[in-house]
Amino acid sequence: MCSKTSITEILGINDTNLEILGNSKKIIKGVEYTVLSGRLTYTPNYCPKCRCKNEKYDIVKNGSQTVKVLFNRVNVNPLLLIIKKQRFYCKHCEATFMAETPLTDKGCFISRDVKKLIVLNLCEMKSMSLIAR
Ligand SMILES: [Zn+2]
Repeated sequence: MCSKTSITEILGINDTNLEILGNSKKIIKGVEYTVLSGRLTYTPNYCPKCRCKNEKYDIVKNGSQTVKVLFNRVNVNPLLLIIKKQRFYCKHCEATFMAETPLTDKGCFISRDVKKLIVLNLCEMKSMSLIAR
């Protein structure tokens, strides 16, 4: 068993706030997925809503929300990352917000990695049809 760091390094998951807790296989709609479960948490420096600095515990942890993020295939199985994202509460503006990760765009559940691959595939298909013509 490799260390948690090397798994995330191999997969290109560059988020030090993300802790991988386990992995398993799961069949969803007849497709076998490699499922990694993890937890995303950190102490925010400031509130993204009102921009106030997080001094003297102005921003507190406020539960968590589980999200699924789809990644490119690892060997033959698509990779699904199930992350428990930390939620925060700002005492200044009374807003709640979720921990963010550079792995996905805000509010999007498809990793940037997959989006990049789709764009690459589209470019390839276009050039192939051009070549054919
Ligand atoms: Zn705030």
